[in-house]
Amino acid sequence: MITLKEALQLDKNELKKFKDDLKAKIEENSTLNAYIDVKNVGEGVPIAIKDNIQVKDWSVTSGSKILQGYIAPYNATVVEKLTKAGLSPFGRTNMDEFAMGSTTESSFYGKTQNPHANDRVPGGSSGGSAAAVGAGLAIAALGSDTGGSIRQPAAYCGIVGMKPTYGRVSRYGLGAYASSLDQIGPMTQNVEDAAILYDIISGSDEKDSTNAMRDDKVVPNLNAARKLTIAVLPKYIENASDDVKEAYEKAIEALKAQGHTIVEREMMDAKYDISAYYITATAEATTNLGRYDGIRYGNRVEGKNLEETYYNTRSEGFGDEVKRRILLGNFVLSSGYYEAYYVKAQKTRHLIKDEYTKIFNDVDLILSPVAPSVAPKFGELANPMDMYLSDLYTISVNLAGLPALSLPIMKNGEGMPVGLQLIAKAYDEQTLFDGALGLEKEVAYKA
Ligand code: GLN
Repeated sequence: MITLKEALQLDKNELKKFKDDLKAKIEENSTLNAYIDVKNVGEGVPIAIKDNIQVKDWSVTSGSKILQGYIAPYNATVVEKLTKAGLSPFGRTNMDEFAMGSTTESSFYGKTQNPHANDRVPGGSSGGSAAAVGAGLAIAALGSDTGGSIRQPAAYCGIVGMKPTYGRVSRYGLGAYASSLDQIGPMTQNVEDAAILYDIISGSDEKDSTNAMRDDKVVPNLNAARKLTIAVLPKYIENASDDVKEAYEKAIEALKAQGHTIVEREMMDAKYDISAYYITATAEATTNLGRYDGIRYGNRVEGKNLEETYYNTRSEGFGDEVKRRILLGNFVLSSGYYEAYYVKAQKTRHLIKDEYTKIFNDVDLILSPVAPSVAPKFGELANPMDMYLSDLYTISVNLAGLPALSLPIMKNGEGMPVGLQLIAKAYDEQTLFDGALGLEKEVAYKA
């Protein structure tokens, strides 16, 4: 597959032919189920879009039954920015319902396969976007990351996935899961393409009150030769599989070979991250999903009266995982429990942020696993608690609002990709991309 950088050089006729061929290839590979729908919107370079990002006049459903029939009334800001830069939405990609999940198994449209093994998950929640890029069925894609949903599927599918600093990319037109954690980001074949796509979608937007209103760009200054201080976390990786440990060692050697200084640091036990995250995320999700009442958006299941219409619509429209989180979110926000759960989770969130701040006092980047293992087989994470625990390496980044980039390091004995992530200070995407570019060159991963 041609890269985004190359695709941006194609003329109108070349692009048209490329898009026709791509459409045929997607149809041939439809069992992968990466795409929900393919459509040509505009004449630009085709980009796959996660099904929770609005493209005007196109259905947008967040992988849910409750939003069947809903048509986006306006473009998300990222889509406006893509269009201005000569890119065009080309297909909507599969995802866990309302971005809640780590496998893409909870989608209304059925599961997506991992392009490297059809009995394994592509990760989630942006599993469709990752599988499309990993299978050579997309030049690049957009995903969203609330607790790892860009980085983890990228690692499972052998591609690059980047979560920007909270506030860098407008959330206007993104279906909200947990508003204080969500960020849209690029999913690409390589680090340079991720930087190109990041520059295109990031920047100020008055339509998003949480936007940081910063417009600095990374591509003009990309520099893989910079010498950095990079923290590794020996204790933190003890719970990872042997494959992940091997990749970690390999990456450390590669970083040393690049002339970076490696220092050892520690993070607090990730079990606190998981508790703080699942309380915060479900509390916000409960609030955000309150709007799906059968009156204003998508599907309606009529009842005898208004209350029964709400009841029927939500009972039939939401899947099990979404209902579980609505219950949990209401519980942690309820009077009597609010202090014990929600407030405590916010205090823990502060501690996590402080911990990162301390490490970043004298360090440029942190090297961390993305997931504890390679992509699991279908059904392996059927127990919700196992699924939540598998997020241990990604969620603290969202709680602290930091930028991070997941890139493939090696394949294991079964040919499954292993990815790792670099984490940077808030708004220091430049250092993140510089470090990732060097690491990518040195490990020379073969797709
Ligand atoms: N797996 C995490 C969750 O289910 C993260 C999902 C995401 O980043 N959207 O909440």
